[in-house]
Amino acid sequence: MTNLDFERASGFANAALALLKRSQIPPFPMYFELFYTYATGSTPELNKRINAALAETGALSLSEAPLLCEEFLKISDMDAKLRHMSSVMSRKITDVNQAIEFAMVSANSYSGSLQQASGDLENGGIDEEALKLLSSRLLKETRRMQDMNRKLEAELENTKDDISVLQRDLDEVRKESMLDPLTKIANRKAFDEQLIEEMNASLQSGKPLSLLVFDIDHFKAFNDTFGHLTGDQVLRLVAQVLKANIRGRDLPARFGGEEFVAILPETDLAGGMNVGETIRAAVQSKELLKRSTNEKLGRITLSVGVAVLRSDDTVATLIERADRCLYAAKGNGRNRVVAEHQLSEENGVIDVA
Ligand code: GH3
Ligand code: MG
Ligand code: MG
Repeated sequence: MTNLDFERASGFANAALALLKRSQIPPFPMYFELFYTYATGSTPELNKRINAALAETGALSLSEAPLLCEEFLKISDMDAKLRHMSSVMSRKITDVNQAIEFAMVSANSYSGSLQQASGDLENGGIDEEALKLLSSRLLKETRRMQDMNRKLEAELENTKDDISVLQRDLDEVRKESMLDPLTKIANRKAFDEQLIEEMNASLQSGKPLSLLVFDIDHFKAFNDTFGHLTGDQVLRLVAQVLKANIRGRDLPARFGGEEFVAILPETDLAGGMNVGETIRAAVQSKELLKRSTNEKLGRITLSVGVAVLRSDDTVATLIERADRCLYAAKGNGRNRVVAEHQLSEENGVIDVA
């Protein structure tokens, strides 16, 4: 580490401490990390959110800090879990290796004893006393061997249990890596993987596949008026509405920011438009209330684009078509669903009523 690195890191640390003090948030490692990350400016979305809180009230509240940690420090949390699992795993492997090595050494020595005894017996001339000695030695060796086998068995049994715990932890981390921490629905990574799978399934079965994209209307203005944290609650609400209005194999996901998507297998354009319209209407029907103050926040609306898979589509072309429909919905007044057959080829102008 150079002197410059030291000074820079100290500067970030001091800034983090000053910000914690200003918000009267205790400098626990998690909160320190949050403000240290803020001070480095490496996560612009985090800085936007903290800046919004600072602009609103002059400080970040103690109840907001854990939510931001959960959302923005998630990756390092997951890294820590993976590191822990990998160290447990390598300790286990070393233990099992040692136990097996020990068992092999013991088995060799046991077989040596047997060979020697059989040599003694073959050579004959062994008197009763010597025979007794030999048999008691063999008995002792045999017990030692049995003992060691039991230990090895217990060690392996133990390892089996540890490995199933690790397997469960690994499954949990994998599931977590597929979820959007704010809304708890699938994230972009899960969506990307699922879309490829469903596209292949649809092309093979010949059944249609619809893709819906949703974007909250004028959400920047909503955030500017009511604050980012209230905005976050709205994102959670939209995710819930999405989840509540789709069928078993459909996948709703947060695409990023205030954009959502839904993959609808075995659904044609008309079916996709129906689902889009149901979700659009459900979101519009909700009158938003701020829980803490009962303040009325009005309503929010969604614009929706619907595309259906074509045989020559790639992931990119399918998303692009749904996106064009979404922009047409925005251009045509927002709070509406536009499907691709309503787009005119040349200029993207729609012919909906
Ligand atoms: P339009 O109707 O054209 O979509 O207008 P818009 O204001 O929704 O669009 P724009 O793309 O200008 O702004 C998107 C806003 O979404 C900006 C940002 O503040 C907000 N946003 C994005 N991600 C989050 C988030 O995670 N939480 C909150 N609260 N707001 C977010
Ligand atoms: Mg947007
Ligand atoms: Mg928007």
